[in-house]
Parts: sequence; C-alpha cells; structure tokens
Amino acid sequence: MSNYGELSVYFACPHCHRVYTAKQERKLGRAHGCFRCGACRTPVHEWTGYYDFTDWRPTRLKTKSA
Ligand SMILES: [Zn+2]
Repeated sequence: MSNYGELSVYFACPHCHRVYTAKQERKLGRAHGCFRCGACRTPVHEWTGYYDFTDWRPTRLKTKSA
C-alpha cells in the first residue's frame, strides 16, 4: 500500500466559481474522465493521459484579501 504519486489539486468551476479538490493519481495505463460541477453541471475538468483524478469534494477556499 503506497500513495506513490498522489497529490491533492484544486479546480474552480468556470461558471459559478465553486472550488473543488481532487486527488491526482499517476496511472500505469491511460486514464480519462470528466468532473462536472455539482451545483451548475458545468464541466470543471476533463482529463486524459497518465493521471487520474478521484475523490472530488467541494471545498471552501477563501481568497486572500489582505
Ligand atoms: Zn459551477
């Protein structure tokens, strides 16, 4: 059991600006998929290649105001 190559990444919905976090995992084969915003159904991220994105969760990121 190893988390080799796993990384948390953030994506913002281009339509409603909600922010999601996902886990980026390196795959030995090809991965592809699409994640849609849970609120407005806009595709937030589409991917293809040697990385897969799993465990999508909404998050509340605050922009730094100072
Ligand atoms: Zn959205």
